[in-house]
Amino acid sequence: MRGTVFGIRKALAVEVLNSYTHAATKAGIGLAVALTLPIGDTDMSRRRMVYEGKAKVIYAGPEPGTLVQHFKDDATAFNAEKHAIIEGKGVLNNFISEYIMKHLNTVGIPTHFIRRLNMREQLIREVEIIPLELVVRNVAAGSIAKRFGLEEGTALPRPIVEYYYKDDKLGDPMVAEEHIAAFNWASPQDLDDMVALALRVNDFMNGLFLSMGIKLVDFKIECGHVYEGEIPRVIIADEISPDSCRLWDVKTGQKFDKDIFRRDLGDLMDGYTEIATRMGVMPEKSVARPTGPKLVH
Ligand code: UDP
Repeated sequence: MRGTVFGIRKALAVEVLNSYTHAATKAGIGLAVALTLPIGDTDMSRRRMVYEGKAKVIYAGPEPGTLVQHFKDDATAFNAEKHAIIEGKGVLNNFISEYIMKHLNTVGIPTHFIRRLNMREQLIREVEIIPLELVVRNVAAGSIAKRFGLEEGTALPRPIVEYYYKDDKLGDPMVAEEHIAAFNWASPQDLDDMVALALRVNDFMNGLFLSMGIKLVDFKIECGHVYEGEIPRVIIADEISPDSCRLWDVKTGQKFDKDIFRRDLGDLMDGYTEIATRMGVMPEKSVARPTGPKLVH
């Protein structure tokens, strides 16, 4: 009973936050101001945190089988050796990931995304995370360029799918199908489903970004199981954002993704703002940023 009342109160609180954020956006309150609004400050402390990662926090959701995914401003690279707080990054990733996941759902590529709740949070389906990251590459960049001595920007003869085992302590090592099968990280069927999803996402996002004058160089996805009755089904989880994709301007080759932070190429928020603006999901065009990124030691 208590659970139900609490559940209703939580659902109500979420609705209030929702309308609050809507009102703020409608009233033209900028992102900088919206960021300082007490969204979650009071409510969040009463929620049950399920997991805290480098860039996101997961809370128990208002209904069974749901979770709330909260996007933080933390940026990390090189297995968290480099870390900064970049004000507003979480908000932009929330909007950008919403845009992509919503489109994927629309074309029948199943994702965990249900709806955005407020500036920093979205309601998602609870999944059993499969401990693998799948990277799809269209163009050589980052680790593949280094590994094979390829010049960054070289188009690959076909999309390449790679597997990485999700383990921060080990630095997410690249693994082969043999390892996945031997250590039972995913069944052959799961892996088959994940690769099929990854390639569908790649095809879809290539077109989506191209229509915005952006080249999809590579990206990473994570997947999880949901149960429909007894039958497990693999769906896309986590986020798809400039934190997990390489996105270059088609004409100039300018980078709009997390490489700006990894390689100290300038202001990360400029790149993310450009993507959000081209998608038409920027909360307000001129984003005032009260402070720059702060290095965390
Ligand atoms: N990526 C990610 N999380 C990781 C590692 C990689 O989202 O823990 C993304 C990265 O942003 C890029 C793609 O996966 O879009 C390929 O990354 P790569 O293997 O080249 O590694 P990196 O050079 O980023 O270390």
